[in-house]
Amino acid sequence: MTEVKHENSVAGRLSAILGEINVAHRKSEISTRKPELIAVSKTKDADTISLALNAGHRIFGENRVQEAASKWPGLRERYDGIDLHLIGPLQSNKAADAVALFDVIQTVDRDKIARVLSTEMIKQGRPMPVYVQVNTGLEAQKAGINPQDVGEFVERCRSDYALSVRGLMCIPPIDENPGPHFALLRKLALSSGLPELSMGMSGDYVTAISFGATHVRVGSAIFGARLV
Ligand SMILES: *Cc1c(COP(=O)(O)O)cnc(C)c1O
Repeated sequence: MTEVKHENSVAGRLSAILGEINVAHRKSEISTRKPELIAVSKTKDADTISLALNAGHRIFGENRVQEAASKWPGLRERYDGIDLHLIGPLQSNKAADAVALFDVIQTVDRDKIARVLSTEMIKQGRPMPVYVQVNTGLEAQKAGINPQDVGEFVERCRSDYALSVRGLMCIPPIDENPGPHFALLRKLALSSGLPELSMGMSGDYVTAISFGATHVRVGSAIFGARLV
């Protein structure tokens, strides 16, 4: 865990992390725009999320469609400019709800999902950027396209499904040094001409930025440990 000292409020932790992101970005030898902080609010209630919104933060991540549906429509009535990213696995029967609720889908990981998302975006008149999730560690239990298939899949997302693919996303294996996974994700993105990299969580976002992350997804370091 990155230590954030002397801060025990959501607003304080947010601002400390934004400061660390700035420092990490300045130190990074990879030139990208300043990384965006996606505040991961899964399991947190609307009141807790409001603390971050009141502090001026607007980019959030949720990993369940149903949970997001219970919190975000109400929050959008009270706050403008919210940018909500789906960062968890998506089932095709939830694609319509996902397109209605989210602004970015980061977990496109198979043809069927690419197809139903494309259909729903057209039907709802809500085109939105997507990321392809990559299973950099080739883990059996983890979602994502295998690294060697990324180029072809990204191409299909563009040509067959007319999706606006912005970048790649990964969740490295929990028990491994994440650096090589971040490096691999960047290499794959470069070879597909993709500008964005969603990688790095509470424990490794500084490392991810040194490998060129454009979006880091940070939950517990902002909102505190999750009980579930
Ligand atoms: C929960 C989650 C995060 C945030 O994890 P923390 O360790 O709490 O920062 C990031 N990305 C994904 C995909 C997640 O599910």
